[in-house]
Amino acid sequence: MVRKLAAGNWKMNGTRAALEELQALAQAHSDPAVDILICPPATLLMSAAELVSGHPLDIGAQDCHTAPSGAHTGDISAPMIADCGATAVIVGHSERREDHNESNDLIRAKAESAHAAGLTAIICIGETLAQRDAGQTLDVIADQLQGSTPDGATGVNTVIAYEPVWAIGTGKVPSLEQIGEVHDFIREKLTARFGADNVRTIRLLYGGSVKPANAAEIFAVPNVDGALVGGASLTEADFSPIIKSLE
Ligand code: 13P
Repeated sequence: MVRKLAAGNWKMNGTRAALEELQALAQAHSDPAVDILICPPATLLMSAAELVSGHPLDIGAQDCHTAPSGAHTGDISAPMIADCGATAVIVGHSERREDHNESNDLIRAKAESAHAAGLTAIICIGETLAQRDAGQTLDVIADQLQGSTPDGATGVNTVIAYEPVWAIGTGKVPSLEQIGEVHDFIREKLTARFGADNVRTIRLLYGGSVKPANAAEIFAVPNVDGALVGGASLTEADFSPIIKSLE
């Protein structure tokens, strides 16, 4: 059994005052039965990592550049993220695929850069509503998974997050059958590419409108090893019950 992962993606939310929520989270989970990861905006990475030091909580970033350093104004690199004390980075979130035109090739290069810096890459994939309605979901998932995942992916350095674009921030959640179908499919594809031993430990997260009220039933779906939570990860009051549902 892999250890489950409750990951929170704060997106472009949170000034220093938000660290109080992180503090409350650290206090509420002194001995969690699952891994807990919070991905605050880059401006809070270092203070967040300092705050959770000594607590069983990890900090991650939300994006990284492909290069370790250089003339890339406004970007941050994987080694810089690691230097902040963070241990993971989200790559290929649909908001970056859309807002910044990120391709599978670019996302794979970012994941490779994360791996080289010793970070866990949380690689996001997911179909749009138009793609689902057109019956293309599994094709899109296969394409994004193959194209965005580095050959060197292992259970230690890689997590896959299935986030249907139409479920993000909308309050709409796929049926449990739909979640199960995609997660089983991802597991099959990973097994075919990396072999069963390695792949067993690559965790598959579900993301998209996870709330305290629906977390338990989603986590009961086979091949769901945790969640990547947006809005409901911003406060301890919302995120703690989601963590508890995973335990
Ligand atoms: P919401 O939980 O706000 O729907 O966001 C999900 C997400 O995009 C996490 O990365």
